[in-house]
Amino acid sequence: MSTRRDFLQNLTLGVGFTAVAQSLISPATASPAPSKQKPARKLRVAIMGLGSYGTRVAEAMEKCEMAELTGIVTGTPAKAEAWKKKYNIADKNIYTYDTVSQIKNNPDIDVVYVITPNSLHHKHVIQVANAGKHVICEKPLADNAKQAREMIAACNKAGVKLYVGYRLHFEPHTREVISMREGGEFGKIMFVDNTCGFKIGDPTQWRLKKALAGGGALMDVGVYNINGARYATGEEPIWVTAQEIKTDPVKFKEVDETITFQMGFPSGAIANCSTTYNFNHIGRLYLVGEKGFAELDPAFGYGPIKGRTHKGELKQPVVTHQTAQMDGLADCILNNKPDPNMTGVEGLKDMVVVDAIYESIRQGGKKINIAKV
Ligand code: NAD
Repeated sequence: MSTRRDFLQNLTLGVGFTAVAQSLISPATASPAPSKQKPARKLRVAIMGLGSYGTRVAEAMEKCEMAELTGIVTGTPAKAEAWKKKYNIADKNIYTYDTVSQIKNNPDIDVVYVITPNSLHHKHVIQVANAGKHVICEKPLADNAKQAREMIAACNKAGVKLYVGYRLHFEPHTREVISMREGGEFGKIMFVDNTCGFKIGDPTQWRLKKALAGGGALMDVGVYNINGARYATGEEPIWVTAQEIKTDPVKFKEVDETITFQMGFPSGAIANCSTTYNFNHIGRLYLVGEKGFAELDPAFGYGPIKGRTHKGELKQPVVTHQTAQMDGLADCILNNKPDPNMTGVEGLKDMVVVDAIYESIRQGGKKINIAKV
């Protein structure tokens, strides 16, 4: 049976500034291009949650030029021991979930990367913010927009930055499509069609438990549909309609299995999206404008991302997303560049749409207007 890993593979501070509220960046703008300029030192990162994705990020960071793994937060002593050896982590940079507040006084750590189950993001991000460190939080940012707002407020109050682990904003094919759209090469954007999902395995995993996952496929990978439609159009959706389809009410007792939804944008562009936990081989972004088109397929997994436009095949370099993301973020932070389009506010904008999708489903597919963030 295909696993989540197969799906992803196949789909293919304390840095000397006082952070204030992060700017409201529009998805119309591509994230800053990576610098050639190396900062005086690397960004020092601690990972919280040494599970499957935390492991992937740590391995990818071994190839980073501007970021390094200097600390960990874990509740499992055996993992602490193994990571300490593998990554040469000093004892004083190893924390448990109960000692996170002590990170405050540790100059070896600039930022904590929260990679725990979705519904713990709210608590963990606020803990890190209160410890005075910048935070990267995995997607989905939170269970809902209310939590996301609280997390942003806590980071703003503490004067730290908040980013969401939307790795595709540093992925070259994705960036090329965004910059072609910004350059007007597709003309007026008319339509986006995107899909993202996989067949989920182990029925006992946290992803199928509402208390830890917040929701199902929509929370896990449907956020790529939403974020993707936003960077494909360069606009914020103003309405959504949604439908939920459940074929296995036992396995998906607590969370959504398959959701289809449609979004409308101020220009009149529309997006048609599907997300699922029930089948493989979907992970495509298709963008149609009056003058051309772009197709990324696979668009959302770890890659290699592939694609074409009306001008031909995209031939951008293939990168390890997490290496590019961590170097890109370090570059923005250490070289004082504008924030990339993966701030907490960007995560909040997606959560507002998630809330509206679940509301539409509750109301039998009713069209729900989306408030501006
Ligand atoms: P995982 O189950 O493999 O790892 C979760 C980690 O959190 C484990 O180390 C676990 O010990 C720890 N944890 C701490 N408190 C816990 C608790 N109360 N219950 C359960 N686990 C607890 O999960 P994962 O696949 O690494 O996913 C973690 C996060 O990363 C999720 O939010 C997920 O959406 C995100 N993720 C993002 C990507 C991406 O491409 N950006 C890919 C995979 C996962």
